[in-house]
Parts: sequence; C-alpha cells; structure tokens
Amino acid sequence: MPDLPSTLPTSGWAAPGAGALLEISLGAIAANYDMLNARTGSAICAAVVKADAYGLGARQVAPVLEQAGANVFFVAHLEEGVRLRAHVSPRARILVLHGPMPGTPRDFTGHDLCPVLNSMEQIADWRAHARRAGSPLPAAIQVDTGMSRFGLSLVDVETLAADPALLAGIGTRLVMSHLACADTPTSPANAMQRARLLDMAARLPEAPLALSASSGIFLGPDYHFDLVRPGAALYGLTPDAARPNPLHPTVRLRARIVQVRTIGAGDGVGYGLTWRASGPRRIATLGIGYADGFLRHGADGGCAWLGEYRLPILGRISMDSTTIDVSDVPDAVLDATTHVDMIGPRHSVDDVARCAGTIGYEVLTALGSRFHRAYLPQAA
Ligand SMILES: *Cc1c(COP(=O)(O)O)cnc(C)c1O
Repeated sequence: MPDLPSTLPTSGWAAPGAGALLEISLGAIAANYDMLNARTGSAICAAVVKADAYGLGARQVAPVLEQAGANVFFVAHLEEGVRLRAHVSPRARILVLHGPMPGTPRDFTGHDLCPVLNSMEQIADWRAHARRAGSPLPAAIQVDTGMSRFGLSLVDVETLAADPALLAGIGTRLVMSHLACADTPTSPANAMQRARLLDMAARLPEAPLALSASSGIFLGPDYHFDLVRPGAALYGLTPDAARPNPLHPTVRLRARIVQVRTIGAGDGVGYGLTWRASGPRRIATLGIGYADGFLRHGADGGCAWLGEYRLPILGRISMDSTTIDVSDVPDAVLDATTHVDMIGPRHSVDDVARCAGTIGYEVLTALGSRFHRAYLPQAA
C-alpha cells in the first residue's frame, strides 16, 4: 500500500536542526494517478503540475506521474513549462494554460510547449507565428462556458466559425473549458457549462474535448469527454468535501519540539497574550510558523497530533514558531518525543484548511521551501 508509513524513516533524515520535516509520498501520488486514470476509462488522464506540482516539487513529481502513465502535463506559465521540459521525456506533451503572452510564441516552439489559446489576441499571435514558421502549429483552444475567467466567448467562437482563415496554420488538438462549481455536484452550473462546451465546440474545428479537473471527474462519465485534467486529486485533496475522500494522502508534515515548559493559571501565551491558562498546563514550542507557510489563521481550532493525542494550538502562530498544549501527553511519552504531526494520519491537508478558513489547495501551495523535505519512493 502506498500509505505513508507511521514511523519516521531512520535513514535519509540527516536534518537534526530542521524546524519541520515534510514527507512527500511519490508512491501515493502514483497510486492516485492510477485511481483517477482507471475511473476515467478511455479518456486521457493528463496531470496538472502547475505551481511546482502544487508545492510538492514538479522535478520529483512529474517523472513519477509519467512513469504511472501520464503523457500530457499542464502548467500555468511559460516558465513553468520550460522548467518542466527537463524533467519529462521528449514524448510528453506540455500544455501552458495561460497561453502565449506577446513576444513569447517562439519560446513555445523552442521548448516544445503547446499553448492553450484563450483569446482572439492569442489566436492572432499564434497564427502569425505559424505563418512565419511556414508550417501548422498545434494548440489547444479554451472556451469560456460560464466561469468568466479564461477562454473565448460565444461571440469569439462565432467570429471564428464565420471566418475559418482566422485559424489558418493552427492545428487544434484540444477544445477545453473549466468548471466553476464542480465541487458542488448539485449545482446547475455543471450541466449548463457542459452543454455550452458542446455547443461551442460544434462551431470550432473538430478536436478532442476536455472539461473536468479533479472534482469534475467525480461528477461522472458525462463529464470526462476525451481528456481530464486533475491536479488536486493527484496530491490527495478531497474532490467533494461532503463525502469521504477516496484518494491517498500524499504529505506528512512534522514539526520539531524546540522547548517544553509548565505555565500556571493566568499565564498568557504568544503575541498579544490572546490565550491564557485557567490552570497549570504543559506547553511545547514548535519550530514551525507562518514564514514556513503554516497559515496564521489556522491557530483558531487548529491542532497538532502525537499518536492519538490531540494537541491544541495556543494563542497566535508566530513567524517561526507555534505553541501547543501537551498537558494530556504522559511525561514518559513526551520525553521520548522530538516531533509532532501538523499534517498526518489524524489530520489531513483538508482538515488544516478547514481550521484556517481556506481550502486544501492554499494550504498545500503555501507550504514553503524552508522545511527539510524527504521524498518517499514508490514501493518496489
Ligand atoms: C488548476 C487547473 C486544473 C486542475 O484543477 P484541480 O482542481 O486541482 O484538479 C485543471 N484545469 C485548469 C484549467 C486549471 O486551471
């Protein structure tokens, strides 16, 4: 099983000075890919690795996804695509969601990157680039089916349909759109966007269609079309907060206990002394704070875990430290403990997000580069 081991590996952890340790399970990411790929049948299962694979490291994650069978990757920016090129095989297709900014089309062809064309301006740029190149150039076309974020409007699509020369030299490899409410299966926006995609695609050159990211995959086969684009689900985030998460967790974050002390009734903790003890408490100071990307808003109702002991966060999270209540932990256990879980078997990324009033996506992508990182390999 690709689940995270319950014990800290003893080798490869030469980081006694690190304030926190981030374990990333490449095996769990590969298993999540397998699961999504199986669930989407004959549709191509692409992999979204923008934002450095949601903070987990595209350099390490992308080759594992490719080995699991992914050969289409999505990033947001040109620079992300250029960096990713070095970590996947020449066969892998890399699509750049934001498309070519003025002056960049040559960089796309130079690095074998495929743009997603979102506007008439980007289409004109790519058409001019193909004319200069003297050969047709592949691209994906994005249409806006209701989210009002990226893609061609219905008027744009009608303009293209009326004048096919506007797409001269553009080899349309994919027509795609993006769902605004996929994590709410009951939202009528989902079916509406699906119908608009079909309507708009019928006016464009025939090409494979794509609509769904992680949550859309779980709306069912009607939403899979020819290609799906999961990101979050690969990294273990829940596709639907109202149901049990079918995916494997991929990260574990352990914070170092730097100091333990006993405080008495009336003593305050942290900036602003916003928490005060009503009686004697044992408290521990951890080497993790908001400068590590551990969101400051997560203090209220947030906690760490040590085995089955829930350890509430006390007062405010500082830049480099967080204070927790360890009064329930027997002394012998505490004496033998160097680290506690901030994200782990009892406390998922989605749980941390709920405490911080945000979403798992933000928690993951915020986790900074300050942690000591360990990549757990795939099981042999
Ligand atoms: C980020 C993104 C995805 C991946 O979304 P998840 O919810 O993380 O699966 C897919 N498609 C587009 C257009 C995106 O911007």
